[in-house]
Amino acid sequence: MADNIIFHIDVNSAFLSFEAARRLHEDPNALDLRTVPAVVGGDKESRHGIVLAKSIPTKPYKITTGEPIVSALKKCPSLLIVKPDYRLYVEYSTKLMEYLKSYAPVVEQFSIDEAFLDMTGTRSLYGDPVEFAHKLKDEIKERFGFTVNIGVSENHLLAKMASDFEKPDRVHTLFKDEIKTKMWPLPIEDLFFVGRSQSTAFRSLGINTIGDLANADPALLNAHFKKNGMSAYRHANGEDINLDFDHDADNKSYSNSTTLSSDVTSPDIAKQVLLSLTETVAARLRHDNMKISVVSVLIRDTDFNDRSKQTSLYSATNVTDEIYRTICLLFDNLWDHSPIRLLGVAVSKAVETDIYQMNLFDDGRHEKLSRLDSALDKVREKYGDDSVKRAVFLKPRSDKDKS
Ligand SMILES: [Mg+2]
Repeated sequence: MADNIIFHIDVNSAFLSFEAARRLHEDPNALDLRTVPAVVGGDKESRHGIVLAKSIPTKPYKITTGEPIVSALKKCPSLLIVKPDYRLYVEYSTKLMEYLKSYAPVVEQFSIDEAFLDMTGTRSLYGDPVEFAHKLKDEIKERFGFTVNIGVSENHLLAKMASDFEKPDRVHTLFKDEIKTKMWPLPIEDLFFVGRSQSTAFRSLGINTIGDLANADPALLNAHFKKNGMSAYRHANGEDINLDFDHDADNKSYSNSTTLSSDVTSPDIAKQVLLSLTETVAARLRHDNMKISVVSVLIRDTDFNDRSKQTSLYSATNVTDEIYRTICLLFDNLWDHSPIRLLGVAVSKAVETDIYQMNLFDDGRHEKLSRLDSALDKVREKYGDDSVKRAVFLKPRSDKDKS
């Protein structure tokens, strides 16, 4: 076995699992949302809103993340719809990360429900890494009530690929000597960081599997796809990805992104996704008692081109609405109307402070909004997330609604 050992931990259907775990914790006889077609998203009554997460039993109905609830209901009329509860997600995510830190020397949080653990050198402590991964997976299930997949390998890319194999509640290994048998037969779309139109282009050259790419002529790839083609080629051969983790505690940042399983072309749907991401990030800030003063948005198109834009705020904040308004401005500035594959929200320059420096243009709005957020947090705490919804979840406008 390799010297370096990396685990990639990924909560199965995270938002839905967190909700299911809470319901079962409160009532052991409650319906387990993971066993039926169910989604997290906005509002059945008004049939508005979009799918933010889905249970594994929705698979035969081909429901996708980012799809309007109304179209998901057409595919599956018995679909259960659960309102998002970002405070709950942050609570579970924080607990999980703290728990992982008690075992691993280095924990790199990759998203709200994913983390890389550098387990190099822990064999003398925990024994065989693969056996330990099984033990860790079972302990997480026992302790938190939700399941994870764990990918075990010698680098981040392969560990991430491995955790994506059969779900849920599984441990998979993908060491370099297993690439040929376990990774190369997979369709080219399954390679991490390969976008939809890039994979279409690969297929037009007869590159249909990851193995086809790994064994393609590098000169041909370079001629056709330049830098992107070459890095995909290296990944197909098991070379690691460069992930930028923020190890600098002095510049604490928070981010969240989501890959949309159907490409988004409607600005209203994009903004609902951005609101959901902002809610998660802002809930984490409030949980940690932090405020931020730099906001950025990331748009990845179907050709895997990334565009991002950031701006500084007049003063530090952790108010969802203030961050979200800036995110929307950045998005409107940045988006060129090409179909969107992934959206991300990041905030940085976090400071632990209770002092809000009033800026000249603020008319007391911040204080009102700040009180609104903590009031919403409290009401949600008391009555559950169904009790309050932001207006945009209630009244999203689709392109068709605009006349
Ligand atoms: Mg997950």
